[in-house]
Amino acid sequence: MEIAPHIAQWDRERTFPRELYATLTQAGLMGILVPEAYGGAGAGYVACALAVEEIARVDAGAAVTLSVHSMICAAIDKLGSEAQRKAWLPKLASGNVLAGFALTESDAGSDAAQIRARAARDGNAYILNGRKQWCTNGRFSGVVMAMFRTGGEGGKGISAFLVDPQTPGVRVERVTEKLGIHTSDTCDLAFDDARVGREALLGNEGEGLAKALATLSGGRIGIAAQATGILEACLDASVQFAKERYAFGKPIAAFEGVSFKIARMATDLEAARLLTHRAAALADAGEPFALEASEAKLFASTAARRHAADAIQIHGGYGYTTEFPVERYYRDAKITEIYEGTSEVQQLIIARSLLGRLD
Ligand SMILES: Cc1cc2nc3c(=O)[nH]c(=O)nc-3n(C[C@H](O)[C@H](O)[C@H](O)COP(=O)(O)OP(=O)(O)OC[C@H]3O[C@@H](n4cnc5c(N)ncnc54)[C@H](O)[C@@H]3O)c2cc1C
Repeated sequence: MEIAPHIAQWDRERTFPRELYATLTQAGLMGILVPEAYGGAGAGYVACALAVEEIARVDAGAAVTLSVHSMICAAIDKLGSEAQRKAWLPKLASGNVLAGFALTESDAGSDAAQIRARAARDGNAYILNGRKQWCTNGRFSGVVMAMFRTGGEGGKGISAFLVDPQTPGVRVERVTEKLGIHTSDTCDLAFDDARVGREALLGNEGEGLAKALATLSGGRIGIAAQATGILEACLDASVQFAKERYAFGKPIAAFEGVSFKIARMATDLEAARLLTHRAAALADAGEPFALEASEAKLFASTAARRHAADAIQIHGGYGYTTEFPVERYYRDAKITEIYEGTSEVQQLIIARSLLGRLD
């Protein structure tokens, strides 16, 4: 009820519903991956996946806001120092501060080891310079986990920092116009001689890429859950429409060309959900889960994109119009195949876990 009556307008006007996150805080969702000791719910990845999925059923944009925020909460909890946990986790759980992630640059996406933004040591501080592209939650974040080069070429020269975007020298350079997830904020951040204290360094120098990739593994559970939620929305809309729409004297649900699409949609929805929950349960148990998170994201995102197209097809011409929400589901589904590692990158991860690295 907090989202559904507004989503069509928010989507049309590209509104970031900042006040929604106060409501999600009251429901305990903004601190869902923050331990209770720091003011969160400490509810774990399965609970987080359920929350992201349910929100994605109505608004995939709000779902990714929560997912990225939660991913950074988990990163600070698992990879941060006690001082960093105390400094950030209570604020993040309170919902007053949103978190973002800044790895991608204009010339470094999948090949993240090529980033060029630099952090130079200056006594007990670092001076940050460079550009980060497409930061989710960027304009509204109170803390961004951002990766900068502190050493030489390659992944081992990268370090991770927790940066307050209000730091002098940090600014929003460009707001991203995009196909879908219009209620999610995406922007480029510029760092021009931004000075942060040594306490901003997450872990040790040179550990940044490994920390970023570990963070993304957890995030992929969230994106798989987001895709699962979109898929569920497609199914709900398709079932309802197929029963109500008549052609040739029958509800279109009576035609196998329609009902079999719905049958495959329902089956893939169950599979996507189970793969997502398996990865989440492994994460909650403290077991390795990176492979399973990639499998879940690959499957759920492909299924969401494919079945969103089917949902439009079932709706016929109405599906192509903004009178029905399935055109939004179609626009929103596509990004789940791209961010936090494209489908090709997920296949690389899965293949390498079976075959080893052959390059
Ligand atoms: C809306 C949105 C939000 C985002 N949010 C964030 C964020 O919060 N933080 C952040 O850091 N980034 C974010 N990103 C960036 C996103 O993670 C990257 O776009 C993504 O990782 C792909 O990188 P790229 O766009 O540079 O594509 P590229 O890496 O240039 O890839 C282009 C194509 O080549 C393929 N390709 C590349 N390498 C290989 C390979 N080895 N084998 C096979 N195929 C390959 C890719 O799969 C893709 O199809 C966001 C992007 C968008 C659009």
